[in-house]
Amino acid sequence: MSGEKCFEVLEKMFVPKNKKTIEEIKGYTIKYGNIVENGEIVDEVLVSYFKAPKSYTTENMCEINSHGGNIVVKKILELCLKNGADLAEPGEFTKRAFLNGRIDLLQAESVIDVINAKTEREAKTGIKQLEGFLSKEIAEIKQEIMDVMVNIEVAIDYPEYDVDDVTNKQISDMLDSVQIKLEKLEKSFDNGKMIKEGIKTVIVGRPNAGKSSLLNAILKEDRAIVTQYEGTTRDTIEEFVTVNGIPLKLVDTAGIRDAKDEVEKIGIEKSREMTREADLVIAIFDASEELTKEDLEILELIKNKKAIIILNKNDLNQKIDEHDQRLIKVSPSIIKISALNKTGIEDIYNEISKLFELNEINLDQEVVITNIRHKNLINKAIESVKNARKTMEEEMPLDIIAIFIKDILEDLGNITGEIVTEDIIDEIFSKFCLGK
Ligand code: GDP
Repeated sequence: MSGEKCFEVLEKMFVPKNKKTIEEIKGYTIKYGNIVENGEIVDEVLVSYFKAPKSYTTENMCEINSHGGNIVVKKILELCLKNGADLAEPGEFTKRAFLNGRIDLLQAESVIDVINAKTEREAKTGIKQLEGFLSKEIAEIKQEIMDVMVNIEVAIDYPEYDVDDVTNKQISDMLDSVQIKLEKLEKSFDNGKMIKEGIKTVIVGRPNAGKSSLLNAILKEDRAIVTQYEGTTRDTIEEFVTVNGIPLKLVDTAGIRDAKDEVEKIGIEKSREMTREADLVIAIFDASEELTKEDLEILELIKNKKAIIILNKNDLNQKIDEHDQRLIKVSPSIIKISALNKTGIEDIYNEISKLFELNEINLDQEVVITNIRHKNLINKAIESVKNARKTMEEEMPLDIIAIFIKDILEDLGNITGEIVTEDIIDEIFSKFCLGK
């Protein structure tokens, strides 16, 4: 519970073992006791006390830790409501933290990202934003603009001082610098998205090339964290795997497994369809046999995609190798493995890291954008930078240029939530799960 009266509500239902008044109880302490209703014990609990302003919401807060299970928890919730509390809306705790000024909008949004994180990298990015890294970056860009804005205002207000030339050079340098920084942030979104959603990967190959053996080798890898999802189309399964920190979303893994039934081997048509949407294609070939017509069709299919060519079954006599021009011209990433013996699998991950420059995303150093709202606003800010530059090139008066520069500040202010409408705030917090 959060709010001025939350301790009053608590007192009506909580009997601590060592009775103390609320004034005597310090913040950041835990008290042991019972939740009671009409003198009857509902559960034995621990209650944590947080006193304003030192709490998540900056308000008085308390947390009741009961035994698990639905009935008791529901009962305690009912008692809170009966004794005067209101049920929180989704995200209301975080919303209060924002409205009370403890965190900015970026940090509030990163709470959602941390909660919903599917990978370690993603959680890390969320935590970094929660710490305010992106906010700090935006604040620095804004400061850079403000420094110049001050000079512009002086030049506008006191035209008798001839500061025009200096200011023009300053404005131009500032716009350059701001644009570079914003574009870097914008670019980080692609990486951010990949971290968040996984690299959409399909495994293609003719029947018996070793698709399901490879899939199993990947999924059974010691360090793999696997989550299964229903795919977007009927009867497909997507599997989210993180191996060595590489987030892969493996598409239609069910299709690969079902191909075992001989009934529905994955045909070239199906492969074409799957390949179209993929960020990465892993094309697997049986190196113990010559390339077949079907293999060549698959090569044709992937020639414009980011693809890794796997020469499988290198434990057997080899009929094709990595020097084969028909392969090289489709993709220089060729890796020999034995899916059966699980050798060479590590090389595939290294290749993926290289292809997607994953090693270059240094989460400890760089700010990565993962939220589409931020990306859109950064795009808008970049547009505003370009507009401002255009007004300069057209030699517009300073006060006009100033208006366009203020637009950039406004776009950036929207990201951190300094100037943001109630609608947007409501929309953002509605994405929260209940009670956070
Ligand atoms: P899929 O039809 O593409 O899914 O291929 P499978 O993974 O089912 O493999 C087809 C056959 O090749 C199976 O009998 C596997 O045991 C065998 N196989 C797969 N990978 C290897 C390998 O690296 N070496 C050898 N010797 N056999 C393999």
